[in-house]
Amino acid sequence: MPAAGCMPVLFIGHGSPMNAIEHNAWSDAWRLVGAALPRPRAILCVSAHWQTDGTRVTGSRQPVTLHDFQGFPPELSQLRYLAPGDPALAARVTELVGEHAVIDQERGLDHGAWGVLLPMFPAADVPVLQLSLDPSRDGVWHYRIAQRLNRLRDDGVLLLCTGNIVHNLTRFDPQTNTTAAWALRFRDHVLTLVRSGDHAALMQFRSLPDADLAAPTPEHFLPLLYALANGRQGDKVTVFNDDVIANVAMTSLLIDIV
Ligand code: ZN
Repeated sequence: MPAAGCMPVLFIGHGSPMNAIEHNAWSDAWRLVGAALPRPRAILCVSAHWQTDGTRVTGSRQPVTLHDFQGFPPELSQLRYLAPGDPALAARVTELVGEHAVIDQERGLDHGAWGVLLPMFPAADVPVLQLSLDPSRDGVWHYRIAQRLNRLRDDGVLLLCTGNIVHNLTRFDPQTNTTAAWALRFRDHVLTLVRSGDHAALMQFRSLPDADLAAPTPEHFLPLLYALANGRQGDKVTVFNDDVIANVAMTSLLIDIV
């Protein structure tokens, strides 16, 4: 258990929206992690599925549930995750981020956020905010912005970063149903860099071997940088759900003080 007041940081490989309602090894691990964490005062999500021009923070008192996907069963579109927001914390986050970040009163929670939160915090009684990603900015910029959030860990705020280290839905061949060698290589390379603490190389992820295939667009990789930037000296990184399925890595990290 972490010391009182210092929250761990999570990077979750979220994969398919169906993981929100299916019981499988990945969502079961989310349930276990959620139950083992100290209760957060609030959760700040950085999700691959909120991309904006400039940086935005959800400021609604009651964020709605967004069903930002197609081709899934109606039961998924009927789900609501009705955690409250936290307007005061939203104001603080925009202040910490700077960069002309603005509060968005309309935006709700996307499936990258609630799809993980539903198994992890089923009671939906912890306030949730989201911070958007500006995909026009590079990895160095995002890492620097993320570092400004570090002090929130001392205030009981859980940083929940949700994306996928490998994410390429167009290259999967259902005929062969095999994971591509480049997907596994990229996951392995990224984990080696995570374990050696080579964040500089990870900020330049577009230049890593196989990145053109494994991270053809930046939005699913960038949440990893937000998690890593909020590690601290002496933190332990625990890898879980380390599977690559259909060229999507479910690989997840718990960053926590020892
Ligand atoms: Zn996604």
